[in-house]
Amino acid sequence: MVVDVFVERCESYQKEVVDKAVDTILSRIKLKLRAKPKILLKPNLLLPTSPKRAVTTHPAVVASVCKHLRKRFPDAKIFLGESSGCGGLPHTKLALEVCGINKAIKQHNITILPFESQPLVRVDISNGVVWKHLMLPKIVVEADLIVNLPKLKTHSLTMFTGAVKNLYGCLPGGAKAKGHLKAVNTRMFGELLIDIYSAIKPGLNLMDGVWGMEGQGPVTGPPKRTGYLLASTDAVALDAVALKLIGIKEPHVPTQVSAKRRGLYPKYRVIGNYTVVKYKQPSMLKLRLLNIMPQAIADRITKFVSPLPVNYPHIIPALCKKCYTCVRVCPVNAIHLKGNTLTIDYKKCINCLCCSENCMYNAIKLKQGWVFRGINSFKRLLRWFR
Ligand code: SF4
Ligand code: SF4
Repeated sequence: MVVDVFVERCESYQKEVVDKAVDTILSRIKLKLRAKPKILLKPNLLLPTSPKRAVTTHPAVVASVCKHLRKRFPDAKIFLGESSGCGGLPHTKLALEVCGINKAIKQHNITILPFESQPLVRVDISNGVVWKHLMLPKIVVEADLIVNLPKLKTHSLTMFTGAVKNLYGCLPGGAKAKGHLKAVNTRMFGELLIDIYSAIKPGLNLMDGVWGMEGQGPVTGPPKRTGYLLASTDAVALDAVALKLIGIKEPHVPTQVSAKRRGLYPKYRVIGNYTVVKYKQPSMLKLRLLNIMPQAIADRITKFVSPLPVNYPHIIPALCKKCYTCVRVCPVNAIHLKGNTLTIDYKKCINCLCCSENCMYNAIKLKQGWVFRGINSFKRLLRWFR
């Protein structure tokens, strides 16, 4: 079967512009649902932060999707669920407010369900590589249709975060940090994300690529004007087209590699035109090196070799508000108060970047280690000689 991936121009987050683009793109996708279906929307609300930073799915896109689904399925019970970062229920509630979602969907009769408030249901994953079963929020398991609403961004750990990666937010709170412990290197983390994808499989995916994020995403990179919405019934196919749109090669993205290997990569065709908008890529030397090594060696390197030579999280004391979120979310307890300043123990750090992804104050930046600095100096030297 060939899957369609639709691409639609959407120049801005102005309400009328987004409504029109969302209606156009979604009305092309056939959806068969039972009477009175349960529909679950899953945006990306990684961090309680302003939509202007392009970290989260824009509220205008979420509102337009709600409006479209209400018109199309008037008898549906529509829910919006999310677990923001690793910070638990208060973090998710704050994200729903600060990211503008509560206000945007108020008039559409949507029930908001932070995943941390849901009972958990066991789901077996027969083809699981890292996880053979998952504990998922009840609504994720019960929904007749999951509408996945990812944000188009680069990612310093997985190169890219799109439709497949957005499903990681279905794991409530600290379960996400535990996932990093279970899959310490990026290749295994890609397998883990595909395990989750196998268990959830959203029926509809719509990506907010109006403004994306390039460089050191998914939190600290700069916003990038891109101007597209993408939609498909298949998350892997949608990610494949999104990667082409921003000029990133699929072999560099662990979820795409794993999906191909496990027979979850469909044939697809693109409906609609787009012009490539080249994104600056995060520094991924470590990922590339680990990808060509045997798994056991890659695991040991990630666990026992400090991230300092490549890239590593660094706390900027002047920006730190001492909220201690990073301390709580670090899966290996690598962040401690030393005197009056928070510091990272790089002997323990597994470079999962949970701390930087969960810092609301942008106080944890990624620094380039000596290997990267050396490579960059070498490149500059080559350019100078030419
Ligand atoms: S670095 Fe960020 S998350 Fe950690 S304590 Fe400071 S402000 Fe909070
Ligand atoms: S200090 Fe290291 S291990 Fe801890 S959350 Fe940050 S990146 Fe992950």
